Amino acid sequence: MIKTDCHLHSTFSTDGHSDMESEILHAIDMGLNTLCFTEHNDYGANPDGTFVVDIEAYHDKFTELKNKYEDRIELLFGIEAGLQPTDGIFSYFDDYISSHDFDFVIGSSHVVKNKDPYYPVFFEDYPDDDAAYRAYFEEELQNTMMYDNYDSYGHLDYILRYGKTGNKNFTYEKFANVLDPLLKSIIEHGKCIEINSAGFRKGMGTSNPHIDILKRYHNLGGLPPTVGSDAHGVPDMAADFDKVHQTLSEAGFTCYSIFRNRKRFEIQLK
Ligand SMILES: [Zn+2]
Ligand SMILES: [Zn+2]
Repeated sequence: MIKTDCHLHSTFSTDGHSDMESEILHAIDMGLNTLCFTEHNDYGANPDGTFVVDIEAYHDKFTELKNKYEDRIELLFGIEAGLQPTDGIFSYFDDYISSHDFDFVIGSSHVVKNKDPYYPVFFEDYPDDDAAYRAYFEEELQNTMMYDNYDSYGHLDYILRYGKTGNKNFTYEKFANVLDPLLKSIIEHGKCIEINSAGFRKGMGTSNPHIDILKRYHNLGGLPPTVGSDAHGVPDMAADFDKVHQTLSEAGFTCYSIFRNRKRFEIQLK
């Protein structure tokens, strides 16, 4: 059983709905060994300033709870940085990340050309889902070529959750000419990708990313992925980690990665 959840939001994230301490207590109840909070910072994506964590309040509460529970669970301090291929955002994150003592930085794409595929109107800019998916992957490729101050790329095919056709018509081959360069860019920069279990509970029948992306990443020599539920509250913590374990094995991995103080460690799948 995987006992480490390294993608988790609390009420410090705009869309989180459980407080940190409840999540820590639940993790202890479930027998988890390690929990890494990765609150949202989507700087530059929302004009109203939402989805940018109050980092000082987050850090203070985290430190208090880390000390309180240090004998019972390992707590790690992370951030989910919403990446967009513009110099202003990359320089912002470079300063931001170096001025806080993060254990772990997830780089994620939540928007394409400043629009979030979570909203159906996003897809009106594209002739079909495939075109939208391609635009998303192309933007990720730009991010990975321009910026490498992150540890693991989050939910690499996040957009497949939101198209009308979901992942029903997805094949690796169809997108290989953008996914191959994307995976190679991540690997060449010494970064990981994440296996995010939210895909299972969002009805995709697979993790994010899809098993075929994980298989190709493994074949190209990718480092063991990091693992996270992307829970925004207690009920989804470590959700479907049995399926994550199976998916990792099926893709060819015998271990997964975790980060402490931005350094990578491996944990064997048992
Ligand atoms: Zn995300
Ligand atoms: Zn997240």
